[in-house]
Amino acid sequence: MKAIRVQQFGGPGVLHLMDVPDPSPGEGQVLVAVKAVGVNPVETYIRAGTYVVKPALPYTPGGDAAGVVEAVGDGVARVKPGDRVYTAGTVTGAYAAKALCNEPQVHPLPEHVTFQQGAALNVPYATAYRALFIRAKAVPGETVLVHGASGGVGTAAVQWARAAGLTVVGTAGSPGGIDLVKSVGAHHALNHKSAGYLEQAMALTGGKGLDVILEMLANVNLGNDLAVLAKHGRVVVIGSRGKVEIDARQIMGRDADICGMTLMNATPHELSQIHAAILAGLQNHTLNPVINCEIALVDAAKAHGLVMAGGSHGKIVLIP
Ligand code: NAP
Repeated sequence: MKAIRVQQFGGPGVLHLMDVPDPSPGEGQVLVAVKAVGVNPVETYIRAGTYVVKPALPYTPGGDAAGVVEAVGDGVARVKPGDRVYTAGTVTGAYAAKALCNEPQVHPLPEHVTFQQGAALNVPYATAYRALFIRAKAVPGETVLVHGASGGVGTAAVQWARAAGLTVVGTAGSPGGIDLVKSVGAHHALNHKSAGYLEQAMALTGGKGLDVILEMLANVNLGNDLAVLAKHGRVVVIGSRGKVEIDARQIMGRDADICGMTLMNATPHELSQIHAAILAGLQNHTLNPVINCEIALVDAAKAHGLVMAGGSHGKIVLIP
């Protein structure tokens, strides 16, 4: 089969499409014929060799795919050949024509959800859910600022929060991004490149402040976030690409919390909760992943360039 292989850490040019042997499922494993692959920023950090986790070389990147079950190993009970599934991690890598998974890594994909949308589910929706409900413990009636709402995680967060009865303020960096943020359900959309947009967010709460902020770029925003938090407010740091200075008094005076969040820390119990919620949200149509563009698997390097370039309007997917 064809698969992207990384032989050495480096720039996007180290992503090469190669012929590799087809994997075959062992006990408790599932082989998925991949129809679409979700591209996440973390795969660029891992490829560059700058991420905290470094896979053994050579490796095939990615964990988010959607496709059809081709074969199952002994003892697999939850899926059978022919089932439509999305993956939440793989054993052999998702940037490939086929992906070998452990059974708990595959989840049912309803008929009305496209494979492209299925590939956009795992990291974005699981991250947004864990940040909003498990770390921030957001509840209906609260107000959330999704700081970076036009990307994969942000659009997912807006949909989760809206469906749960929060008032949702989302930000984007372009007029197209603003339209997208509104179209996925935000009550208000602001441009994070405009002067005074956080004061506008504050005004939307009647001066009380935001109960929850989901932060996609903490190195730029965390210091300013604290000034627009409500009393007992929570900021969840989802993304950060450098250091930041904060005024700790802003947390103290509000009894506020800054929470870190890494999806990799999710427990098996949390993951089963998250994927049950994703299935329910797909079935009741409150979750509806937005696809930015489709790129051929052979052009994975181009996808890595685009995902880090900004200006995203939803999810970039690779098609094997
Ligand atoms: P993405 O699809 O590339 O989206 C990036 C988002 O960041 C866009 O909405 C972008 O808005 C926004 N952004 C750009 N400049 C910003 C600013 N100054 N203030 C606020 N937002 C800004 O990426 P993603 O998949 O949604 O991931 C978002 C971040 O979370 C990445 O850093 C990623 O590495 C991280 N992440 C962390 C975890 C975890 O487990 N902690 C999991 C998934 C992702 P515009 O392009 O419209 O300006």
